[in-house]
Amino acid sequence: MIRPAELIQRKRDGHELAAEEISELVLGYVHGDVPDYQMSAFCMAVYFRGLSAAETFALTEAMIRSGETIDLGAAIGRKVVDKHSTGGVGDKTSLAVGPIVAACGVPFGKMSGRGLGHTGGTLDKLESIPGFRIELTTDEFLAQVREVGIAIIGQTADLVPADKLLYGLRDVTATVDNVSLIASSIMSKKIAGGADAIVLDVKVGDGAFMKTREDARTLAEAMLELGRRAGREVVCVLTDMDQPLGQAVGNALEVREAIATVRGEGPPDFTELVLASCAHLLALSDLGIDEETGRRRAEQAVADGSALAAYRRWIEAQGGDPDEGALPGAPVVREVAADRSGFVGSIGAVDVGVAALRLGAGRRTKEDAIDHAVGVRCLAKRGDRVDEGQPLAEVHARDDESADRGVADVRAAYVLADEPPPEQPIVLETIA
Ligand code: URA
Repeated sequence: MIRPAELIQRKRDGHELAAEEISELVLGYVHGDVPDYQMSAFCMAVYFRGLSAAETFALTEAMIRSGETIDLGAAIGRKVVDKHSTGGVGDKTSLAVGPIVAACGVPFGKMSGRGLGHTGGTLDKLESIPGFRIELTTDEFLAQVREVGIAIIGQTADLVPADKLLYGLRDVTATVDNVSLIASSIMSKKIAGGADAIVLDVKVGDGAFMKTREDARTLAEAMLELGRRAGREVVCVLTDMDQPLGQAVGNALEVREAIATVRGEGPPDFTELVLASCAHLLALSDLGIDEETGRRRAEQAVADGSALAAYRRWIEAQGGDPDEGALPGAPVVREVAADRSGFVGSIGAVDVGVAALRLGAGRRTKEDAIDHAVGVRCLAKRGDRVDEGQPLAEVHARDDESADRGVADVRAAYVLADEPPPEQPIVLETIA
């Protein structure tokens, strides 16, 4: 039997722990034998000392073993692909990628999470669709992926319970942003969720956990290594989160933007990220095609309407109304006008995320209710030329008071400059 205090001490002093020790600690924590205060101290020791690749893998494996696992490939009878983003502002990528990939004949089954703080969660976005059910049983989920080709649901309670507990603890003990802890948290869920091949979208910049390319690369390498050890194919794309993704930030607004993108009418940066992600997923699938052909097929599915048809089939299968008109709209919509002519030099992603949160689009605590109708649309993006008085953004609010505050918040997020900033592509780097 391990002594948690001894493991904490050894990690504190920079020693490497054995896989069985990490496993006993994690499973002891999940069973209630190791208290929060010792696990917090352990996470802090890891925060300062880090984990080796072997320790990170042992932690991931122990977390997976804390709950049930799904063998999606065996249940569907096909190779199943999945995608995951490390989280950002305006990130509705799965809502567009899923139907496009499904329209190309590749099954897409995904378990998603909720947002906390300035980042939104896919489940909250989906819940802005009237009638949409995020809670399917595992059998219903599998049947839908088999029959409709796509399902996105909430993570079941039995999948990686260690991560739920640990993430909650890390959130309140300033131990979230450690590469090994983030990598094991994300990859334990992906591996337990059963996909054979995974595309990981690692966000970089102001609105992301990883503020620099170098840190993002380190996280990507750690996740690739975990995927390799678990026998999964993984591709990481490092993508720009120095400004919100696309235009829309806020739940129903983001669903509208995802529908527009599936129809071929999305904003350029978001459309590019969606098509690049689809190309990677299709190349990893059992279609036996390369990325270039994957990209062409994804573009074709958008152009011929089959992606939109897949979106409608998917939403209806989960009880939702796929019509855009059914989505809630905010009663007050205000423009944020440019107070001078020039170029958009930068748009603070966190600032816009927090503005949307204050409008009611997100939650500060897990118990907060969300207003699905409200949010922000960033009409002008980094590098765009604007004239004085031209709308930079729209604020969608519940009432006049929150609209006034939202306009001030969003105006403060925009920095206008005399010269355009250097161009930055949405996909910064691909690591496989
Ligand atoms: N997303 C996760 O699922 N876990 C983390 O630790 C960070 C981001």
